[in-house]
Formats: sequence, structure tokens, C-alpha cells
Amino acid sequence: MGPLKALADAERKPYWLDRPIAPEPLPRLVGDVTADLAVVGGGFTGLWTALMAKERDPSLDVVLLEGGRAGWAASGRNGGFCAASLTHGLGNGLERWPDEIAALERLGRENLGEIEASLARHGVACSFERTGELRVATEEWQLAGLDEEAAVAASLGRRLERLDADRVRAELDSPTYLGGLWDREGVAMVDPARLAWGLRDACVRLGVRVAEETPVRSLRDGGRLLELRTPQGSVRARRVALGTGAFPPLLRRLRHFLIPVYDYALMTEPLSAAQLAALGWRNRQGVGDSGNQFHYYRLTDDNRVLWGGYDAVYHNGGLVRPEYDQRDATFEKLARHFFETFPQLHGVRFTHRWGGVIDTCSRFSAFFGTAYGSRLAYAAGYTGLGVGATRFGANVMLDLLDGRPTERTSLRMVRDKPMPFPPEPVRSGVVQFTRWSMVRADAHQGRRNAWLRMLDAMGFGFDS
Ligand SMILES: Cc1cc2nc3c(=O)[nH]c(=O)nc-3n(C[C@H](O)[C@H](O)[C@H](O)COP(=O)(O)OP(=O)(O)OC[C@H]3O[C@@H](n4cnc5c(N)ncnc54)[C@H](O)[C@@H]3O)c2cc1C
Repeated sequence: MGPLKALADAERKPYWLDRPIAPEPLPRLVGDVTADLAVVGGGFTGLWTALMAKERDPSLDVVLLEGGRAGWAASGRNGGFCAASLTHGLGNGLERWPDEIAALERLGRENLGEIEASLARHGVACSFERTGELRVATEEWQLAGLDEEAAVAASLGRRLERLDADRVRAELDSPTYLGGLWDREGVAMVDPARLAWGLRDACVRLGVRVAEETPVRSLRDGGRLLELRTPQGSVRARRVALGTGAFPPLLRRLRHFLIPVYDYALMTEPLSAAQLAALGWRNRQGVGDSGNQFHYYRLTDDNRVLWGGYDAVYHNGGLVRPEYDQRDATFEKLARHFFETFPQLHGVRFTHRWGGVIDTCSRFSAFFGTAYGSRLAYAAGYTGLGVGATRFGANVMLDLLDGRPTERTSLRMVRDKPMPFPPEPVRSGVVQFTRWSMVRADAHQGRRNAWLRMLDAMGFGFDS
């Protein structure tokens, strides 16, 4: 069976969200209410913000407004790699914040540990497996990058295990592997939709008023309180936290810093014991390869393979549209790459294909800020690595709204903003030329052209 046939019956929806365990929607907001804190967005950023606000102060009156269903967007349809890194990887963090990287790494590890503890405390069952991540090289030029990362990690007291081709293939067998780097501690695998649903339910149990299918249409300063208007009501709140991801932001200034980038994934049927044995994969690590265009893949708790990434698509004009969640050219490419990587899985079928939108910023890791005299805070720009980092972002927003300095709010990473993207139509030109240059670099032993080198020097980039 060829890759196209393997895709033929795949549902065009996110596997994670397409299961009978999906919860019933919570009621829309109808009427006018007041709150101490209004959280906009029911992805991980908003859910962690509401949950931790109640943990910090159980007497706080918290409302969460979600335009669709909690977790329907990026949070419920991602790869489920829950990484300690707050900076989209060690390399990116080191380049941008060399003086802070040790603190950022420590805070990231603490954040991951606290996620695990919090899930246990609130009884959130989401197949959280602390398997770590294997980064593999599939081209000679990528090996040097693995060596460099292992050395940098070692200088910060962290052990990333460098594996030669035989040892990587003993972990997971692909003829394409030339070497690998195993981060045993820094990444967990989760079922992202069950994480979002579990956080939603934990919020409700703590007394957060969660309204689904309640988009906030406008935000304005009503004097003492900020006013959020929804189709059938309004919220007047002392404080507002925005966790609206890649969607058109309620605060206009955020438009300069965020672009919506589409990322795509496939899910296979559950593997048989024989198919799993043909792969090895006893330690169930998440896996990523090392090109500018990279794949990420992992096992689910019922031994399906999620296989995603590679193309990162920006639609000129920067629109977010439901039809962009499907892209056959990308699905076919992903299916082809899957069978090239694992020829022993010949005959396996895909059950789901989907895409989702990522809030990309030019520094690839979240940025933060306040508005309306520090009565509103925002966190956005996680750029494809937000499953774990959103909890850190939520804590930053709560710190900023509290107005008391903390270690988090004193970080340069938190205080500084990314370079803004130029306005359209220049923005589309810059992004598409950058993408083209990255594809070319992958085809030419990783050699970066003058354009990419200039962007590197400026600390400006494009990623997913
Ligand atoms: C295909 C894919 C794979 C990914 N894989 C990984 C991975 O393996 N590991 C990783 O760390 N990250 C991954 N990511 C990124 C990760 O999913 C995100 O960083 C993270 O989920 C962002 O959470 P969020 O809450 O900020 O945004 P979202 O989950 O996008 O939530 C924002 C919410 O705000 C709501 N909203 C927006 N505007 C309004 C409004 N005006 N009124 C009311 N509600 C509003 C939206 O409906 C949405 O539910 C992936 C993303 C995609 C798309």
C-alpha cells in the first residue's frame, strides 16, 4: 500500500478532539456580570491562568470566556510534547539570553515538575508520560548540531546523551538515522485534549465560571473596571488576562508581534505488537529530527503514531481560517516521509489528518506585557512549544497583574519584546522568502544563505 492509499480513509479532524470522551459544552455567557479577574481564551494559557489564580487566592471571583470549546484550538490538537524549555529549545534560549539561560532552564524544569504535581493534585488524567525526547540526525551536517547542543547542555550541568547511529537505532529503528541526542528528563508526553478538558474541569471545581462558545467581541476601559462584550452579555472586571493564541488579538499592539503559522499532523491506527516490536521504541520517547523543516513524532497510550511537522505554512495576509486546517499536499508529503522513515510499517493506515494554527513570534518563545495601567496582562508567541511553557506564561501574567516583582517578572526574557514583523504586504514577502531560504538550507547541508545569516545576526526569525 502506498502513502496515498494509507491516507485514503483518514478523517479530516484532530484525532485528540475526535473521541467519545470529549465533554459536553459549558453554557454560554448570557447577561451582564462582574468579576475580579476575566480570562479570555480557553487554551492552556487561559486555563492555567484561571486555575492558578484560584489556587493563589480561592476567594477571587474568576470568569473564563472561550470563543469555541476549551482546548479546541492549538491546545487540543498538538503533538503533546510537554517540554521543560521555556525558550523553544536550549540553542534559541542561549543565543538570545546567554546571561539568563541557567535561570530559564531551571525555571523551566521547575515548571515541568509543577505541571506533573498539579495534574496529580487535581486528578487530571492525560497520559502524562515522562519519557524524554530523542533528537535524531538524518543528514551528516546535522550531527555537529547535536554535538554542540550536548556540549552546551553539559556546560549548564545537564546531561543530554549523545547516541551513535547503532544506539539510536536500538532505541527506535529507522534506516534514516545517523545519530541522536536523548534528553531523558526535559520532556514529557501528554494527551493534549485530555489535558485541556481536565484543566477545564479542575477550574470549574475550584469555582471558576467557565463560559464556552462565548467570543469576546470588544474590550474597553470602563473607568474602574475593564469591559468585555460578548454576543449575549458582558463582563466588567478589575483585571483581565489575555490567552488568545494566534487569533486576532483584542489588543491591537499585539498584531505587530504575532503571525499565524499552520502546522500539520497525521495519526495512524494503533500498531500491533509485531509492528511495535519491529520499531523497538521500548522507552516511548518523543522524537524530533533536526532539519530547519523538522518532523516530530510519538506514540499515544494505545500505540498509535502521531507524525507531524515539516511544512510550516503562512498564508499571505496572515488570516486564520477553518479551511486552512486541511492541506492535502502537506498530508501526502508527511505520509511519504513516514514510510521512508519506517519502511517496516508498510501497510499501516492513517486514521486522522489535521492542521492547526501556531502563534509565531520572531524570537520563537513567548512574550508578555501589560496594558490599561497594568490591569490587563497578556502572554503569547509560544511558536510551537507551548504545551509546557503556557503554564509559565500564566504565572507571569498573574505576577504582572499582582504588581509584585518576582524572579519571573525580573527576567529580561519577560521584560523584552520580540522584534516586530513588518506590516503586510512586506510581511508576507519576508516570511515566504525566509521559508524558501530555510528549505534551501536543508537541501544544501544546512548552509544558510546571506538572508538567513542577516536575520540570525538581527535576532529575527521564522519557525513553527
Ligand atoms: C499541530 C500543532 C502541533 C503542536 N505541537 C506542539 C507540541 O508537541 N509541543 C508543544 O509544546 N507545543 C505544540 N504546539 C503549540 C501548542 O499547542 C501551543 O503553544 C499552545 O497550545 C498554546 O496555547 P494557548 O492557550 O496560548 O493558545 P490556544 O490553544 O490557541 O488557545 C487560544 C484560545 O483563545 C480563544 N480565543 C481567541 N480569541 C478569543 C476571543 N476574542 N474571545 C474568546 N476566546 C478567544 C480561542 O478560541 C482558543 O481556544 C503545537 C501546535 C499545533 C497547532
